[in-house]
Amino acid sequence: KAKSQGKNRAVFYSERFDRVLSLQMAMETELRKAIERDEFVLHYQPQVDAASRKLVGVEALIRWQKQPGVMVSPAEFIPLAEETGLIVPIGEWVIRTACRQAKRWMDAGAPEFHMSVNLSPRQFSEANFVEVVSSVLDETGLPPDRLVLEITEGIAIQDVRETVEKLVALKRIGVLVSMDDFGTGYSSLAYLTLYQVDALKIAQTFISGVSADSDRASIVKAILAMASSLRLTVIAEGVETEEQYLFLKNHGCDWIQGYYFHKPLSAEEVSLLFAEAAA
Ligand code: C2E
Ligand code: MG
Ligand code: MG
Ligand code: MG
Repeated sequence: KAKSQGKNRAVFYSERFDRVLSLQMAMETELRKAIERDEFVLHYQPQVDAASRKLVGVEALIRWQKQPGVMVSPAEFIPLAEETGLIVPIGEWVIRTACRQAKRWMDAGAPEFHMSVNLSPRQFSEANFVEVVSSVLDETGLPPDRLVLEITEGIAIQDVRETVEKLVALKRIGVLVSMDDFGTGYSSLAYLTLYQVDALKIAQTFISGVSADSDRASIVKAILAMASSLRLTVIAEGVETEEQYLFLKNHGCDWIQGYYFHKPLSAEEVSLLFAEAAA
């Protein structure tokens, strides 16, 4: 009995696996075409200074406009793009588009701000990654210290020496580096100093619990204290309530990003915010 049940189960799983696989292949084809058809767009989520509430930067977040009115979120296609290597051309498009947009805002008179861009491990591991960044900066005219590259602890799983070399090269160009989703990976503390990051972003899971869960509040306080003694800029992400905002501000968090202040916005909407800030 157990044997036949096992067999049935195997058939069931393999059918499901086939279905998943063909869905994945269809999506890969679509993703490939999306690059040629220019179906990607960037939204930009504002980051504000905790004390003054002033706009200090934006994070570029990719969306896939698959059909009119259908926006696919990055969580649904970045993993596949990473697996297939398509993240390399997509990621380059993101860096170029974000830098070009940032330069436009600068030229339009926006007060000082920085542009944060997310990197995926696969993209970062490309041999020419540093050259890509440096040529995009040349081409767009964006000053390097306006660009912040958000890395994750996933990058650290790869060749550590190569990672350090690339980060040093990027810092020599003048680009800033931020550790995204801090606290969700492993060996966080060692990598902070090894990679000489300029900023860290406290993962949303800790922020969402600060008011309800005293353990998570303690973790956030500890991260803020540590970041302050390491002279790192700390950004809290996923801040949704006034209570979370006040807690973070009162414990020395530098910058805030989250729905409480702004959702990710279109480039046009951010232009309006900068125009208001400049006025
Ligand atoms: P992330 O870099 O940690 O970005 C923050 C995510 O949290 C964004 O989701 C943002 O919309 C969302 N968020 C911001 N504030 C709040 C809030 O107050 N509440 C809640 N519930 N969510 C908030 P999004 O845009 O769906 O992006 C998800 C992830 O996809 C990003 O996480 C990042 O890892 C990845 N991603 C986005 N754009 C790119 C890209 O251009 N390249 C790469 N490699 N990854 C990207
Ligand atoms: Mg990010
Ligand atoms: Mg994050
Ligand atoms: Mg500080």
